[in-house]
Amino acid sequence: VSALEWAAPAEGVDEAIVSSVRRFAQRELDPLEIDEAAQIPTRVLAHLSALGVFGLTVPEQHGGLGEGLRLATRVVAALAEVDRSVATTVGLHLGLGTRALVRYGSAQLQAELLPSLASGEWLAAFGTTEPGAGSDLSKLKTKVTADGDGLRLDGEKAYVTNGGLARLLTVTAASAGEGGLAKGMAMVAVPMLGRGVVRLSEEKKLGLRGSSTTGCLLDGVKVPQHWMLGDPSTGKAQLDHTLAWGRTLLAAGCVGATTSALGRARDHAAMRRQFGRPLEEQPVIQGQLASATVLLGAMRALMETAAAQADDAALHRWSVSAKVFCSEQGWAVTDTALQLHGAMGYLENSGLPMMLRDMRVTRIFEGANDVLITHAGALELQHPAARDDLPSMAQHVADAVARRGQRLREELGVRAFRRPELLHWLGLAVVWRDAVVAGCRHFDSGAWQRTLCREACAARRSADRRLHPADDQAQILARSR
Ligand SMILES: Cc1cc2nc3c(=O)[nH]c(=O)nc-3n(C[C@H](O)[C@H](O)[C@H](O)COP(=O)(O)OP(=O)(O)OC[C@H]3O[C@@H](n4cnc5c(N)ncnc54)[C@H](O)[C@@H]3O)c2cc1C
Repeated sequence: VSALEWAAPAEGVDEAIVSSVRRFAQRELDPLEIDEAAQIPTRVLAHLSALGVFGLTVPEQHGGLGEGLRLATRVVAALAEVDRSVATTVGLHLGLGTRALVRYGSAQLQAELLPSLASGEWLAAFGTTEPGAGSDLSKLKTKVTADGDGLRLDGEKAYVTNGGLARLLTVTAASAGEGGLAKGMAMVAVPMLGRGVVRLSEEKKLGLRGSSTTGCLLDGVKVPQHWMLGDPSTGKAQLDHTLAWGRTLLAAGCVGATTSALGRARDHAAMRRQFGRPLEEQPVIQGQLASATVLLGAMRALMETAAAQADDAALHRWSVSAKVFCSEQGWAVTDTALQLHGAMGYLENSGLPMMLRDMRVTRIFEGANDVLITHAGALELQHPAARDDLPSMAQHVADAVARRGQRLREELGVRAFRRPELLHWLGLAVVWRDAVVAGCRHFDSGAWQRTLCREACAARRSADRRLHPADDQAQILARSR
């Protein structure tokens, strides 16, 4: 495949890019080989560079294609249909790795770094997590301080995706507000081959074995002042925006991989005969496939809704729901696909165990789901979602979630924000509400909407029971009378 294959005007530029990437992935990637070798062949990375994939979201003046999050999600999903490690390597580069530089980097720094990142000569990584600071980023120990007319970084980063391949690390560090630096959470670009940067050894992982994950020590690393990305005083908002890109791309990877898993399940159900007929004629299996199809539709709709958001607050909110829903349902559908293959699905050479292993981490990284669900509940109390112009069933679910939020606010006021268990259950309902809303916006089928709405109502009822155990008690008493 050459870059020229992208020039296919009849399909439209976006379609041509996505189908070129998909064709490349189908022809050139061997997922089981990548999993076994625990690395991506260098020829694959070179090929992706030649296709321009690493420059997809880099502005054209710096050698990229100047595209946005929408097309990036489609490209990552197309790669993940074939190989999740490759999709993660690319997605990390386009999202967490380069987004802060593209959005907040100074003109000088962008001119210096972006051409190499766009061409794929340099890959990017992102270092926020530390051995002592995972979900709780207020405990970051990595510090950035003023050092002469430059900056100095000291600390340790853990679980850095692309750590063994990258030449640029976007580091999150605490600034104490001394020596002319603003106080806050700073983001700083760091050259991985620079003095004082020590890459630690490759981690051995359950899944995503082809993608590189290492720790990284920052021992008195010095960079010029203009390698600071944006302003530490607004660093938290910058980090939220960068993470929102990362989470939406992660959701895209889940959509791509789940599309494959479901495709495999459907093919197998059509081919495998038991009890005198193909599996697909068994009502139970038909129900499982129908449910998986609805869930995948909702995943795609939610991911696309997040990717289409222009303003930061909306992108942040939708990206949380997309990340949680796509990783949870991606896991459930992939597990169903394995189950449907019976013993054959349990064997490594079927590829299904690898798909399940690859999916597992998406519920942990870029914000563990339990933490993000609680966050979704808190966001709902702060900024109730706009619920205009929706089909009636989605409106029903949305209104029900809004009433729960309203009651929490009225009954507990600010104390509601201090009750993580309440926020968690409200957040669960919010994630499902968003899936139904996105699904109804994207699809027109009444049957489709009814199924998803039923699932959402079950999730909401379960959330309600936790939010209002007293109501439950009253109902139980009423029933027993
Ligand atoms: C393969 C892989 C790649 C990664 N890549 C990167 C990367 O490129 N850059 C980077 O910065 N980080 C990366 N990470 C780190 C990842 O983002 C963190 O693992 C994640 O944020 C969770 O932090 P933790 O592992 O320290 O879990 P902890 O914070 O220790 O939490 C452990 C578990 O407890 C639960 N939990 C914690 N707090 C709460 C709470 N308040 N309420 C409810 N439940 C809670 C969650 O279920 C969580 O999974 C990667 C991790 C992995 C495994």
